[in-house]
Amino acid sequence: ATPTAVMVASGMGASLGVLIKGGDALEKAHKVKIVVFDKTGTLTVGKPVVVSAVLFSEFSMEELCDMTVSVEASSEHPIAKAVVAHAKRLRQKFGSRTEDVPDVKDFEVHVGAGVSGKVGKRTVLVGNKRLMHACNVPICSEVERYICENEIQARTCVLVSIDGKIAGAFSVSDPVKPEAKRVISFLHSMGISSIIVTGDNFATAIAIANEVGIDEIFAETNPLGKADKVKELQMKGMTVAMVGDGINDSPALVAADVGMAIGAGTDIAIEAADIVLVKSSLEDVVTAIDLSRKSMSRIR
Ligand code: ADP
Ligand code: MG
Repeated sequence: ATPTAVMVASGMGASLGVLIKGGDALEKAHKVKIVVFDKTGTLTVGKPVVVSAVLFSEFSMEELCDMTVSVEASSEHPIAKAVVAHAKRLRQKFGSRTEDVPDVKDFEVHVGAGVSGKVGKRTVLVGNKRLMHACNVPICSEVERYICENEIQARTCVLVSIDGKIAGAFSVSDPVKPEAKRVISFLHSMGISSIIVTGDNFATAIAIANEVGIDEIFAETNPLGKADKVKELQMKGMTVAMVGDGINDSPALVAADVGMAIGAGTDIAIEAADIVLVKSSLEDVVTAIDLSRKSMSRIR
């Protein structure tokens, strides 16, 4: 596109809440054949809430909550924020008078899996099944059943292990954005397909995909896996747009022909993207592609 066309489109975009960082993205966006959507915070509202908490060992709910808060309080993940808020409420309910929880030592983030640390003498892991497998924590059939029951309802299970044994779990629900279904079906009508990529488990991903009408699913992956998926689609000759909000999406946002960051997302995602959806509405994925189609047709 000519510099003038880019300027005009950028100005129009800006007034609509679609920040386009350069002419390159604008030129590619009209050719997009597939949109890759992150799940948490992109397709979903990103404000998960805990809907249940259960015990699987001799530790009390208060002990479970104390240790979970100690470890999760250092995590930036939206799931961690939900778990901390809920566990703090439960602590109060069970009579804890203080706001304080024990300090955590050796805190570690396991990207796309969870967090870990030492609370007193105890080793505490908080995260998904993948984290437990990686750390050789066995999962009995009772825990497995709890996980399955929740995942088919699009809920994410946060498992807590203390000294190598599952002590309890939290089930987290994160509703899909109200516009998600409409946007996916509109994209389809424009001849653009969609795929969900997530670090979360398959059952949850399938439940969300069914709810919004996405037919391709790539789950249980890590940030580099998301980027590899984008490259794989490009290798098939497709122009790929990626929409994401998290640090974990930044490699895929960079790899995509058109990276779109949710405005309410992390700074790192916003930096990695070519286009920022300031209003955080998925409708603006369509706005961005539309803008590109219009400005390119005006040029040709
Ligand atoms: P998404 O791709 O959906 O944005 P992530 O890659 O950030 O998800 O995380 C993938 C999964 O890892 C989460 O669904 C959750 O099961 C687990 N996880 C990651 N961080 C945490 C945490 N701090 N606490 C509990 N679970 C976590
Ligand atoms: Mg996300």
